[in-house]
Amino acid sequence: NFTEVLEHVRNIIEPLAKDYQVEVEFVYPDELYLVGDKDRLTQMTLNLVDNAIKYTSLKEKGKKKVTVEAWKENNSIKLVVKDTGVGIPEKAQKKLFERFYRVDKARSRKMGGTGLGLSIVKTIVEKHNGVIEFTSKEGVGTKFVVTLPINREEDNNETV
Ligand code: ATP
Ligand code: MG
Repeated sequence: NFTEVLEHVRNIIEPLAKDYQVEVEFVYPDELYLVGDKDRLTQMTLNLVDNAIKYTSLKEKGKKKVTVEAWKENNSIKLVVKDTGVGIPEKAQKKLFERFYRVDKARSRKMGGTGLGLSIVKTIVEKHNGVIEFTSKEGVGTKFVVTLPINREEDNNETV
């Protein structure tokens, strides 16, 4: 049940969001079943929400809010993580999923980290035969959309 993943992430993230002074909202139904690796899906969701909170807290002024939403759509689970943060400059967007890529040194120094988070996210989503997309606008915010098929194909059922 992907809801248990979201609950777990929520328990970790709520105190962090408080520290970073970012409002966070979770919206999801009671049951969201899919075939997948629970630990990996937790890591994937956590990386996305962790980024959303950290890179929203860097904004100097204005609304600071992260919304995590999940629902069932056809034969997939949709996960959306959106924020009102600093956004990602257009020229950085195509490199975003590369290992060790970080957008700029100033924001990277402030937040620590390695630049591996999103490359891990992409690998986990793809191992589940899923798709990840994002849209972002500098100074406005970022939205990641993950689509995870409920049933994985036979030949892709190996452990991720
Ligand atoms: P870590 O390995 O600790 O996750 P990281 O957060 O720097 O380090 P990624 O998660 O891969 O690495 O993110 C890569 C870069 O993309 C970040 O350095 C950040 O500049 C940018 N980024 C990621 N998510 C967001 C977001 N929601 N809003 C703005 N920038 C983001
Ligand atoms: Mg990260």
